[in-house]
Amino acid sequence: MKTNDEFWLYDLKVEVIGSDTPMVCDHQPGQYFLMQGENLIFGPNGKFPLYPLAALLPLLPARQRDTSEHDWMTTDTEIACPDPHCGGRFLITRTGKRKFTHSQTTGLPDYRGRAHWDPVLQGNNEND
Ligand SMILES: [Zn+2]
Repeated sequence: MKTNDEFWLYDLKVEVIGSDTPMVCDHQPGQYFLMQGENLIFGPNGKFPLYPLAALLPLLPARQRDTSEHDWMTTDTEIACPDPHCGGRFLITRTGKRKFTHSQTTGLPDYRGRAHWDPVLQGNNEND
């Protein structure tokens, strides 16, 4: 197994926060989901509305990676609900870092190794 092909991704928490405008979608303050590597882990009630999720998804892989302190992707952590009549806002927070390796995360034949989700490789992050 290669050991010099490591990279780190931030774990994320996406939480519903309110604003001065009432929310019309089925999301309430405190509702959240986590992102760890490629996985979404939904909070205690296990649901999250489709349309805000669809608007958030393109931002999440970029937010998982190191970005310049001057990049809006770093500074603008509050995202508006895509429904123009909804006051919902979503706060994206980096909660920790998780280590991966190229060989564990690619299916390219020349680089293929043991998958990162294999139980043998569990426990390779700063949060566990
Ligand atoms: Zn909404």
